[in-house]
Amino acid sequence: MKKARILLLVFILAHQFTLAQDSLNYVIRFPNARHHEAEIILQLRNVREPSLILRMSQSSPGRYAMHQFAKNIYDISPTGNQKATIKRIAPEAWEVSDIKGSVDIRYTLFANRADGTYSGIDRDFAVLNMPSTLLWPENKLHLPVLVQFDLPDSINWRIATPLSVADSAKKQFTAPNLSYLMDSPCLLGNLKLREFYVAEDSVPRIRMALHTVANDAEIDILVEMAKKALAEQKEVFGEFPAFEDSTYTFLCGYGPGYYDDGMEHRNATMITSNIPLGGNQEWLIGTLSHEFFHVWNMERLRPASLEPFDFTRANISGELWFGEGFTSYYGDLALCRSGVLDTDKYLYTIGSTINYISNAPGWRYGSPVHMSEMATFTDQSSFVDETNFANTFISYYTYGEMIALALDLTLRSSFQDVSLDDYMKALWIKYGKNEKSYTNLDLMHTLGEVCGDKQFAHQFSKSTSLAIPCPTLPDFSKSLDTG
Ligand SMILES: [Zn+2]
Repeated sequence: MKKARILLLVFILAHQFTLAQDSLNYVIRFPNARHHEAEIILQLRNVREPSLILRMSQSSPGRYAMHQFAKNIYDISPTGNQKATIKRIAPEAWEVSDIKGSVDIRYTLFANRADGTYSGIDRDFAVLNMPSTLLWPENKLHLPVLVQFDLPDSINWRIATPLSVADSAKKQFTAPNLSYLMDSPCLLGNLKLREFYVAEDSVPRIRMALHTVANDAEIDILVEMAKKALAEQKEVFGEFPAFEDSTYTFLCGYGPGYYDDGMEHRNATMITSNIPLGGNQEWLIGTLSHEFFHVWNMERLRPASLEPFDFTRANISGELWFGEGFTSYYGDLALCRSGVLDTDKYLYTIGSTINYISNAPGWRYGSPVHMSEMATFTDQSSFVDETNFANTFISYYTYGEMIALALDLTLRSSFQDVSLDDYMKALWIKYGKNEKSYTNLDLMHTLGEVCGDKQFAHQFSKSTSLAIPCPTLPDFSKSLDTG
């Protein structure tokens, strides 16, 4: 009896504690989809503070520039609480006062750019990337969230998202916290669905949700290509990462209304293109392969400079030459190794990139690390005044891709039975698998361990960064000249 009373008391206290916790719900409606608008209601419950700061994000994970998502929301008002007031205190922030427990914040989102960063709403589909969609309360990124899509019977859209289903009939989804929700895009529409596993593996389950006019046979071609590419990528690291719910989701929008883009997330990717899928699978598989390689390189094997991700500012990183560049190298290499991409076509593509890097004047103005740090100004950043980037900047994507090629060739030719695959696998085991973030110095030390030559690793790192003290600067680019 005594034990039962204690358990009852624990239950009551736990229940009261749960009730006392702040909770967040979002309700998303599309009453004016033809004019690219969504109605969004943020429901704040059991709020203990008398006032809260609400923010629209100014950055989006996977994109490295600053964005002003706040420009596209309006008609913001508190409802369900007559005393609550709201005041804009910064271009991207509002203060809600006199909350006293609960309040709903209603606003309208205008969204007409369907890609991997912004949002797009139209009569027959919606792409929602959460940083460009959600107004969120400051200091509440740790709270669990419920998202409900309130769709009328006249809209028969399917909803694809890496979020967990809470109630399928009510179209409710949950996220363990607001940060996870911000990393979970949604695609809605008359979607075509596929589900498959790679070879004999029972995990992860791969889901593909497509908004396309392509027929089943045309979609099947893409699925078969994806299976081969994913299997080849797994060979590099020896295993797939542990996905939440053991599931990974491709969200793909192909055709009019979509912009060319791909964006990686922890358990999903948003891939968009205005090119129709039918007949263009060989072209479109390139983005798919690149984004999936990110599940290792960037999502879990992650630079310390991007953690914790700050949604209120640009997140600068000097490791993008590795995170994006090496992903670019393996994205295409996996397609070639698996036979999806003909060897001659692969060599033609990589030859073009060698040509670009060899002739680009930008290397005189900064190392790959410095080019990575310029991402804030070059990764879909928007400005009207002219720059001199054509002469002073080299994309860390292509720069890093060529560094990966040069390092792979050098490891294979200068060391016994060592290739870039060994390096990637070592980094995965040391940092990625346990999600311990790394620095450029960590990359150098692991390279030395893999090839057994610390001096080589030091010279290589020196060639990618001027930040590491070294009396001489080796010309690592000669590896490209001979290749
Ligand atoms: Zn990428």
